[in-house]
Amino acid sequence: MDAFLGTERNPLQVAVVGSGPSGFYAAEALLKSGQAVRVDMIERLPAPYGLVRYGVAPDHPKLKEAILAYQVIAQLPHFSLLANVNVGRDIEVDELRAHYHAIVFACGAEADRRLGVPGEDLAGSHTATEFVAWYNGHPDYRERSFDLSAEVAVVIGQGNVAADVCRILAKSVDELRATDIAQHALDALAASRVREIHLIGRRGPAQAKFTNKELKELGELACCDTQVDPRDLALNAESLAELQSKANYISAKNVEILRDLAARALGGRPRRLLFRFLESPLELVGAGRLEELVLVRNRLEGSPFQQSAHSTGETARLRCGLLFRSIGYAGVPIPGCPFDARQGIFPTRDGRLVDATDAVIPGLYAAGWIKRGPSGIIGTNRADSVATVKSLLADVPSLPSGAKAGSAGLAPLLAQRAVRAVSLDDWRVIDAHEVARGEPLGKPREKFTRVAEMLGCLDGGAVSQR
Ligand code: NAP
Repeated sequence: MDAFLGTERNPLQVAVVGSGPSGFYAAEALLKSGQAVRVDMIERLPAPYGLVRYGVAPDHPKLKEAILAYQVIAQLPHFSLLANVNVGRDIEVDELRAHYHAIVFACGAEADRRLGVPGEDLAGSHTATEFVAWYNGHPDYRERSFDLSAEVAVVIGQGNVAADVCRILAKSVDELRATDIAQHALDALAASRVREIHLIGRRGPAQAKFTNKELKELGELACCDTQVDPRDLALNAESLAELQSKANYISAKNVEILRDLAARALGGRPRRLLFRFLESPLELVGAGRLEELVLVRNRLEGSPFQQSAHSTGETARLRCGLLFRSIGYAGVPIPGCPFDARQGIFPTRDGRLVDATDAVIPGLYAAGWIKRGPSGIIGTNRADSVATVKSLLADVPSLPSGAKAGSAGLAPLLAQRAVRAVSLDDWRVIDAHEVARGEPLGKPREKFTRVAEMLGCLDGGAVSQR
């Protein structure tokens, strides 16, 4: 008879798919649960840390300090990293199920939502996802190029990702040089001719999704004036009611910050950031590439906290050559897992994956953005992952208790498929190379931006280029 699951004789083998914040917080909760647990963190890129490495803006080094906590988690006994292994391509979900008692999907939201307007795919129109991943050195986006020769750029959406994009466009390269921004991005930004950035929200100032610090920062740019039209701050009664709610203190503070900005005179800086509210893109127009954006004026309809944007029919045209849609991320499906395409998430109940009939799929769990959608800050994922792990641990008595091999079971499959898994020690080698490359440039690191370059640091540089 098998020993009880979760004991030293029969440890619970868990695969955590994804190495961003939610993956690390799930690993921590499992490894500190008091049960005998082995956690293998499986990551498709050779480098861990997900959006902290490839999403957090390079000029926000404090936020990247979350990695210090993840390094501590990675040192907990019974934690292993299997990076450069793509679940759904290199290893099937069913193969994982054969070698693990439970799988926690913490694979984030890698795709983006679409605007659904004509001209969206014109040259010069991009998703913020692509731009952010490109300037952060993500290998999948290494070959992208962004034509920064236009003087007028537009960012659609008023969340923190839009704020990041605006700052990167608005800052001088001297302000970015000492960050871990990818060199190819720094070179392209050095030649940028962008002078005017329009940051456009479909709803009003009271509904903007920025957090206070990020909004405030947009008013403190060294080389860019920030312009807010005071007329936009004449709020409707429903918005004023929203701001009265104690729980809505972030929006109330945002409006206060915007009022300060509106009262300020422009400072003659070389670039200008213009906040625009209550406008939606109707069409992107151009002969082969973006030349003009057609916008429609909106009005808000609905009761407080239920207000949505509705067209007034009044249109405006804006000449522009560069546009970023920053309207939220969406998860991508993995073969073998249920997927809610409308919301871009894995459907779950209390962190447990459920199938099309709403029945729980034993042993499969989700945490973070692939579970709840792209919301919250890094720390939000901690409670989310802890809640999922709580469900997982509660299920242990009902999980099949037969011993599972974990990574030892995957090794022959990976070898057969010529997949070079990157361990924690391997990652430390790559990491040290990146830090050393950054040193002469005065940067915290110069990231490798190609998978082959990262793998080239290992095995005496004799790794095949996959
Ligand atoms: P977000 O905060 O959800 O903002 C999305 C924005 O897009 C909203 O203004 C939304 O307006 C707008 N939008 C959505 N659909 C639209 C459409 N069809 N047309 C026009 N506008 C549309 O998303 P995000 O900026 O991608 O950020 C994702 C999460 O990461 C957030 O929780 C954010 O705080 C976090 N993050 C944090 C930091 C940081 O802490 N520094 C940095 C980056 C990201 P509506 O409100 O009208 O829907």
